[in-house]
Amino acid sequence: MKYYPYPCARCGACCRHVDRIAQMASFNRGDGVCKHLTANNLCAIYAERPTLCNGEQVYKKFFSDMTVEEFHGIISQLCKKLREAGA
Ligand code: SF4
Ligand code: SF4
Repeated sequence: MKYYPYPCARCGACCRHVDRIAQMASFNRGDGVCKHLTANNLCAIYAERPTLCNGEQVYKKFFSDMTVEEFHGIISQLCKKLREAGA
C-alpha cells in the first residue's frame, strides 16, 4: 500500500501530550510537552524524529494491514481527542 502523508493541521496537540506515551518519556520537558516542540508548533528534530512521531513509519510497521485512509481515520480521531484534552 503506497503511503501518502496525513493532512496534519500542525496544531501541536500530539507534541504537547507526550506524557501519555511511555515510550516518549525521555522527550517530556517536564510538563507533558515535548522538549523538541518549537514556539510555532514545529518539530526541531523533524528529520530525526522518533518512529512514533513518523506517520509513514508507524503505518508501515504496525498498521499496514489496513488502508492508508483507514489509518488516517484513526489518526484523525486521536488528534480530535488530544485537541479536546487541551493543547
Ligand atoms: S494533533 Fe494531529 S493535527 Fe495536531 S499536530 Fe498532531 S498530528 Fe497534526
Ligand atoms: S519529537 Fe517532534 S514530532 Fe515528536 S513529539 Fe517531539 S516535537 Fe512532536
